Amino acid sequence: MNNSNSLLHTDTEKDQNFPLFSQIDSQHHEQIVICSEPESGLRAIIAIHDTTLGPALGGVRMWPYDNETDALKDVLRLSRAMTYKAAISGLNLGGGKSVIIGDPNTDQSEAMFRALGRYIEGLGGRYIATEDVGMSEQCMEWIYSETNYVTGIPEEIGGNGDPSPVTAYGVYMGMKACVKKTYGGDSLEGKRIAIQGAGNVASHLASRLQEEGAILYVSDLYPEKAKALAERTGAETVKSEEIYELDADIFSPCALGGIINDQTISQFKFDIIAGGANNVLLDEQRHGQSLSERGILYAPDYVINAGGLIHVAGEFAGYDSTRSYKKAAAIYDTVLSVLNRAEEENVPPLIASNAMAEERIKAVGGTGSMYLPGEGELERGR
Ligand code: NAD
Repeated sequence: MNNSNSLLHTDTEKDQNFPLFSQIDSQHHEQIVICSEPESGLRAIIAIHDTTLGPALGGVRMWPYDNETDALKDVLRLSRAMTYKAAISGLNLGGGKSVIIGDPNTDQSEAMFRALGRYIEGLGGRYIATEDVGMSEQCMEWIYSETNYVTGIPEEIGGNGDPSPVTAYGVYMGMKACVKKTYGGDSLEGKRIAIQGAGNVASHLASRLQEEGAILYVSDLYPEKAKALAERTGAETVKSEEIYELDADIFSPCALGGIINDQTISQFKFDIIAGGANNVLLDEQRHGQSLSERGILYAPDYVINAGGLIHVAGEFAGYDSTRSYKKAAAIYDTVLSVLNRAEEENVPPLIASNAMAEERIKAVGGTGSMYLPGEGELERGR
């Protein structure tokens, strides 16, 4: 009786009864691993989204999630984003991510990270871990002591070290591609560029832009950081809340996600948005469309900031910074192809880049399917 009744259930009812499976089904994940080791306090989820192109690479994030549903939602979304970033960048990698439920300031221990390392080792190379929000070099070293399926490790223990110089180089090349598309030539000389954030990526980017003769504006939540960068690069400092209304050619968000939203878009006078931060559109569909309607050219974040992934992926083939920079230079061509396709199909660039990433996966034999995160579904880290 029960069985025959269940056949009459609608999809919505099924989704309500099986929220875990419905989430996994809707985003097409290959494998979810629940990691629990009470002795060390480890509660983590590893999500492998797609390994069509290669092993799933993605960061380990530690965050004090309110509940396991939020943790699952985050890991599913983040792992899927990694699939797209790797695919559009021409890397032979899939998308994965792991999240540890806990407070990075109080809950970290060697035992916990070694336990996670053993889970990663158990996956036999289907998932490769790297650093993300809430993690330190020490945490990565603890994981590394249990498994070799780790990348982005410090130079002292054989890794490539800090990815931000390569990320910044990729952003610089992608920005030049946007300038070529908008103005005809790709020189940044004399272009007025507003950089949000004065952290790692922004600092390396500002140096390159200064060398090319750009006119720079920089803001940071910490004014002393903005001041230090401005002094070093000849930039003008701007108050954090004033950067959105600046009369500049290019806006380069290099801080946090979600900063392109209804409030900020209405202030924009920029021609181009090209920066290193992840998930800058609060609502990918709506705000991507809104930028296009205003004639503002947006370089999709995961396309232009892929230098960091390129750098950590390169570590697997042995350290070679020339190769990392060469591959990051190709971001110029990738951004141009995305923008050309967006123009041909009259769609926002993000729709074009998603389609291109999915096509590469499908060509190799995967399923690739569109999923655009909505408001509130933001990546806050790398
Ligand atoms: P970071 O922590 O070194 O720098 C971020 C800076 O932004 C900090 O100085 C912070 O004070 C500032 N900031 C935060 N909110 C701000 C606001 N509202 N206005 C102005 N400044 C603000 O980080 P990072 O490594 O330079 O990364 C920057 C962004 O790029 C992040 O979104 C990160 O996820 C993304 N990203 C980084 C890499 C990498 O290689 N580091 C790779 C890919 C993507």
